[in-house]
Amino acid sequence: VGPTIAAGEILVEIMATDRGLGFLEPLTLVGPYPSGAPAIFIDQVARLGGGAGLIGCVGRDDFGTVNLNRLRRDGVDVSAVSVSDRYPTGSAFVRYRPDGGRDFVYNIAESAAGQIRLTAEARQLADRAGHLHVMGSTLSVAGLREIVAYATKAVRASGGSTSFDPNVRKELNDGADGAQFSALVDDADLLLPSGEELLTAAGVDDECHAVKALIARGVGEIVLKRGAAGSSRFAADGSRIDCAGFLVEEVDPTGAGDCFGATYLTCRRMGMEPGKALFYANAAGARNVTRRGPMEGIAGFDVLDGFIAGTARAT
Ligand code: ADP
Repeated sequence: VGPTIAAGEILVEIMATDRGLGFLEPLTLVGPYPSGAPAIFIDQVARLGGGAGLIGCVGRDDFGTVNLNRLRRDGVDVSAVSVSDRYPTGSAFVRYRPDGGRDFVYNIAESAAGQIRLTAEARQLADRAGHLHVMGSTLSVAGLREIVAYATKAVRASGGSTSFDPNVRKELNDGADGAQFSALVDDADLLLPSGEELLTAAGVDDECHAVKALIARGVGEIVLKRGAAGSSRFAADGSRIDCAGFLVEEVDPTGAGDCFGATYLTCRRMGMEPGKALFYANAAGARNVTRRGPMEGIAGFDVLDGFIAGTARAT
């Protein structure tokens, strides 16, 4: 069975330790933490023991090394992560507000993350992959659209599967991007929306109709992320499973959705039945929000089993 692969931005995240508004005065910051949604996702796959590979680009600098070291340590194939001599590794500064909202300062547009290309190494990884995970947000980068188109074909040709997290951006709703977005939704074996994204992807305004419409369009299964409330899984046969969230203190919500999706997918690829996979995914998402840093809460099955045994769930 070929590895699960993802493509996209690799960054470091630097966080303020106190809550407040903006970055207008000197703050106590912690980091750099390895980050970037595709990196978080694929690292969680690897930690669970699923084969995992990432297509991306970092700068030849310490922030790039922070990421490469972590991904390598956790068993991710980084042969398709190129290293730019010209562009630095991207960074994101985040500060949480008292109301739970977030303020960001991004240094990404002119970073190595924007230099991602369909290299020979990326083709080789895609050619031997068993599953491709795509994120809607990454489709705004031209090089990534090309990678996704190539990898989708390659994975399909070798009998593999795809998943899609439609973390929508407004700029995706028109032109060629809109068409690629719709095709990714229609062709997804597994769709992983959170909250409103389900309705946006379906173009209707209630959950029940959205699920029916997407299944009718050919989506294999839909797993809906509901934050602290947990998650639900809808299948083409009309079945539905709900899974209550674990009761935890949320320290840093960044990365929960990616950990959750990676865990559901990996459990399913290992042959676990949907209800059990959803339970582990809820545990992975919940544990991740208890740690500061988007990848610091990533956990293998041993840690997740301990977390499950020691944590109550909402009823
Ligand atoms: P996203 O990060 O994509 O918006 P969510 O915030 O819904 O996704 O988080 C994904 C999953 O992680 C949820 O479905 C839930 O299982 C778990 N999770 C997230 N936040 C919490 C929380 N505060 N308490 C418990 N579980 C959480």
